[in-house]
Amino acid sequence: MSASLGATATFARGIHPPEGKHFVAEAAIEVLPTPKSVRIPLLQHIGAPCEATVKPRKSVTAGDVVGDAKAFVSAPVHASISGTTARESNTTLPNGRHVPVVPINAADEQPLEGQALYDDVLGGEWPTQDLDVAAFTSEQIVQMAREAGIVGLGGAAFPTHVKLSHHPDHNVDTLLINGCECEPYLTSDDRVMIESPRSVVCGALLALHSTGARKVIIGIEENKPQAIRALRHAAEGTAVEVQVLQTKYPQGGEKQLISAILQREVPTGGLPFDVGVKVINVGTCSALARAVLRRKPLTHRVVTVTGAGIKVPKNLLVPIGVSYAELIDYCGGLTKDAARVVAGGPMMGFTLGSLDVPVTKGTSGITVLTHQEVRKQEQSNCVRCGRCVDTCPLNLVPTKLALAARYNNTEVAERYSVTACMECGSCAYICPASLPLVQLIRWAKILVHAERAKEKAKAEAKAAKALASTADERPSEGGSEKKEAKPEKEAKPEKEAKPEKEAKPEKEAKPEKEAKPEKEAKPEKEAKPEKEAKPEKEAKPEKEAKPEKEAKPEKSKASKSEK
Ligand code: SF4
Ligand code: SF4
Repeated sequence: MSASLGATATFARGIHPPEGKHFVAEAAIEVLPTPKSVRIPLLQHIGAPCEATVKPRKSVTAGDVVGDAKAFVSAPVHASISGTTARESNTTLPNGRHVPVVPINAADEQPLEGQALYDDVLGGEWPTQDLDVAAFTSEQIVQMAREAGIVGLGGAAFPTHVKLSHHPDHNVDTLLINGCECEPYLTSDDRVMIESPRSVVCGALLALHSTGARKVIIGIEENKPQAIRALRHAAEGTAVEVQVLQTKYPQGGEKQLISAILQREVPTGGLPFDVGVKVINVGTCSALARAVLRRKPLTHRVVTVTGAGIKVPKNLLVPIGVSYAELIDYCGGLTKDAARVVAGGPMMGFTLGSLDVPVTKGTSGITVLTHQEVRKQEQSNCVRCGRCVDTCPLNLVPTKLALAARYNNTEVAERYSVTACMECGSCAYICPASLPLVQLIRWAKILVHAERAKEKAKAEAKAAKALASTADERPSEGGSEKKEAKPEKEAKPEKEAKPEKEAKPEKEAKPEKEAKPEKEAKPEKEAKPEKEAKPEKEAKPEKEAKPEKEAKPEKSKASKSEK
């Protein structure tokens, strides 16, 4: 039964950046013609990387597994086109991570192209109210999600089968489907909801059955009226509810969605299941429905190519592994005043240094900003206005985190819950001093993770030493005990099941060259907390550490659009 709850629900705090959705909100999804080649990254998700399962010069058909891993928190990758594999090589993803790729050169004939491919992925019949979810056990749905390589398509890329798995300690009562797409400019989720609402509803029902939750609600921002109507219509006669939410950034954050719809607050550093909730993206739901009902793996996704710096912005259905450059070419190329290409949207995306980057499962869009949109403001000293603190949707204190980063002070960073930061960029957006708060916070996270890794290694070494000395005291048993004493590295389900804590591996999150606070940080001053209270004198952020800040649309435009 669909619900009409009005556009009143939202979370506390947040910002209203220019939406920028007008470029492609009305552009129907087009199928990209099969590219000459693709490169399938062997790590497109949170968790263990895959290893190639095919050798070079082998013939593969679209949908064949080309990489897999044994770890539970991982997801196989599949050939997105039919063709012949080439020798494994490497690429650098937009987040700075270097990963191996399996190249595939396209065959002359593809099993599905054009409209047939569209119908297979998004179109055709989806049963909705006739869907018999009881025909599948929870374990079967989890298994099919894993085999299909489904990960969170909203950008987090957390393996969906892990999320769908029922855990006896997690008392989940509600499943939320995230249809907010709050990131400015991007419209891929919006188009999926408009054009394939029944696949989303089917996926939501399958996920509901698999997680064992009692209730499923799709949350959509009010700036997507077509999607709201389409999903309400598709959900009629099913258990799926549709809730309209205020348009505000970052409404699509898991914790903000939970707060807005259920008025439950996930504790700092906690996860949705701590308050009985699981959250899945609408695109992921559609992919899950295809995996379970059509037995098709995740080989394609919808990508928005947009912005004033693109000649003909489009929403495209593309094979995983096609290069960004090819998508931009297909959209007519860059305009003369294009200034910056961003993987994702302007708030959370990564500025690209090269367009020779393959699309991954987590690629929701490419945004090209112009010189007018790329604000180049000089950084100044913190004026202690407190706006960043007032804005942070997670109630963090960005100024403290930034200072901790400048002084390489992991203790302060941990005390102020740096790892809870979701890097939404709201604080940096609102900062009148244009401080690179997100880059500094990322740096602090790197330091904290490095510190934790060091401590863990120390503890493990100590434990191994203790075991060795115990073994020495028992010479008849010692040899076998030493060998048996190291299983931990392979089996850590609890830690692996916490996406947010592992979501930003240090190297991914921090292009080292962007922020080098070490040079500024003077160790002897770290011990003087009173200095931390005077950021004006110390804060001289590096000029090169501003990609995200610069990628933001102008604030003056924001206020205009709000009016
Ligand atoms: S980037 Fe982090 S600290 Fe800044 S507003 Fe977002 S969650 Fe808060
Ligand atoms: S960091 Fe920026 S927003 Fe925060 S208090 Fe300082 S000047 Fe204000």
